[in-house]
Amino acid sequence: MPDIIQLLPDFVANQIAAGEVIQRPASVVKELLENAVDAGASSIQVILKDSGRTLIQIIDDGKGMTMPDARMCFERHATSKISSADDLWKIKTKGFRGEALASIASVAQVELKSRQEGSDLGTCVKIEGSTVSECEPCQTAIGTSFAVRNLFYNVPARRQFLKSDSVENKHVMDEFQRLALAHPEVAMSMHHNNNEVYHLPKGSYRQRTVGIFGQKYDERLVPVEEETDLVKVTGFIGKPEFARKTRGEQFFFVNDRFIKHHYLHHAVTGALDGLLQDSQYPFYLIYLEVNPSMVDVNIHPTKTEVKFREERAIYSILKSAIRKSLGQFQVAPTLDFEQESSLNIAPFDGKSPVSIPQITVNPHYNPFEQSERKEPTRAKTSGAIERSRGGGDWKEMYKILRGEEVKPDELGFSAPDSEIKVEQQVSSELTVVFQVGKRFIASPIKSGMMLVDQQRAHERILYEDFLAKGTDHHGSSQQLLFPFTLSLTPADHALLVDESMALQQMGFDIEDFGGNDLVVRGLPADCRQQNPQKLVDSILEQLHNGEASAEHPERHLLALGLAKGSSIGKGQVLQTAEMRDLIDRLFACEVPYYGPSGKNAIVTLTPEELSGKFD
Ligand code: ADP
Ligand code: MG
Repeated sequence: MPDIIQLLPDFVANQIAAGEVIQRPASVVKELLENAVDAGASSIQVILKDSGRTLIQIIDDGKGMTMPDARMCFERHATSKISSADDLWKIKTKGFRGEALASIASVAQVELKSRQEGSDLGTCVKIEGSTVSECEPCQTAIGTSFAVRNLFYNVPARRQFLKSDSVENKHVMDEFQRLALAHPEVAMSMHHNNNEVYHLPKGSYRQRTVGIFGQKYDERLVPVEEETDLVKVTGFIGKPEFARKTRGEQFFFVNDRFIKHHYLHHAVTGALDGLLQDSQYPFYLIYLEVNPSMVDVNIHPTKTEVKFREERAIYSILKSAIRKSLGQFQVAPTLDFEQESSLNIAPFDGKSPVSIPQITVNPHYNPFEQSERKEPTRAKTSGAIERSRGGGDWKEMYKILRGEEVKPDELGFSAPDSEIKVEQQVSSELTVVFQVGKRFIASPIKSGMMLVDQQRAHERILYEDFLAKGTDHHGSSQQLLFPFTLSLTPADHALLVDESMALQQMGFDIEDFGGNDLVVRGLPADCRQQNPQKLVDSILEQLHNGEASAEHPERHLLALGLAKGSSIGKGQVLQTAEMRDLIDRLFACEVPYYGPSGKNAIVTLTPEELSGKFD
């Protein structure tokens, strides 16, 4: 038998590696920005065309490279940052794997120009699909410039896999923001299609934060500071009254590297316990400095999750640091952070302002969660499957519900002397509907009992309505008395401008006002939510975090955002007529059984299930 094992050619190996490191334009931006910071740059410019598909150019004024290094840097595992495995535990730089440039050069056309201080001439290297086509001296500024053109030009499958320009752009912005927030000591700018998106001079952390999120954030930031042997905590927490329903403004940095950390996120929200309404996310920017040996760096190159060795201790320190600063800055009634956190109920001193108690409801609370968890596929089924599975009986169920008088003995089970029976008797002429826990609409049906989640039902109705409006372009608009100006982050602004046509078709009268502002002149007619900010927040929440839908790839997230932003909520008391109307409209929907996010809107209980409860 002949030997069959052979080594892969370098460019194939690099392309395989590239699949891990470079997934989209934003990954290139991240790697090149990190390299510029590692090279000690004090100023970095980013130039993009077509959200980075056509061009990503990053110019720094860092230490530059010699000619051999400029050639070498594209080799796999070529790095100047570590030389032995032990170094892994002392890493202060962002990169160390020596994979990024080799990966980028295998899937794009790259031009590198670099010069070091003290050399008259720099080096220009051109490399395309891992093949060097030019390497010669050239005139160039001190520092390094990478131009990456036509990403994935030689991997069509990957290129097709890229999302719309607005989605790719958002990922690029995220990477830029994360690095810019970690390094306010570096001046940074970004141009996209010849427009200046960011111009961030060197400055303090506060100045950088305001540079990215806008001037209005200045008054919202409460500084957080704490230093212990284990960890130094600095940064800001947003005042709770400015907490939003949109995620995406929560940032942790460990040793200047952006990370995601659910456990530590919990420490922050725990510290704000009682100050936030449910489903609100606080703004925070928390910088943690720890000894590099306390963090596990041995993680996937593109993952932002990290592991700490002393996670619990860091959790407690962070939580009390935030409580302390909220107290110091009188955001919350003074809290004694030495106490057990669970005992932190501040005594009323008679002087501090008393806030009006507010009723909070948790719109995500779902008492059926457990059963959904048991059947995970159920929650996410798409419309087509839903219909085929549940379609057989819903019409019949509806008929019974609407048309026929429902008498207890026709229900197939004899109800005991409970409230249900009383209700049935009270309104025996029409369908019996009543509200349970200001959240569910209950009604007896032939096969037992039907419970409708009022919020999901309404979301479903609105969702299909907005989707239809978007498709037929017939959404009419209700003009606002006063136009409303939305000040947005550049990333959110770009997202909404991209979607403005679709939003108009759904009845939004919205206009780009230059800078990062949008003006809302009218809202979709019949929209319950009259606060444009809340509606837009809800749309942005979906554009950022919603899951795409295969059935309605175009408008799904917008319709979902609008539906969620304007539906009735839990806790809303409904009159009988309103409940009937809701059920009517729900059953007129294509997919009445599920809310637009795929969770149950209707649950039925059979007499058997009910009798189980009486055993
Ligand atoms: P890593 O960052 O993991 O070392 P890269 O592939 O990103 O790997 O870069 C390889 C090497 O190229 C770096 O170690 C560094 O020496 C050099 N290099 C990359 N970018 C720059 C830059 N902007 N300025 C100076 N040197 C750079
Ligand atoms: Mg690198």
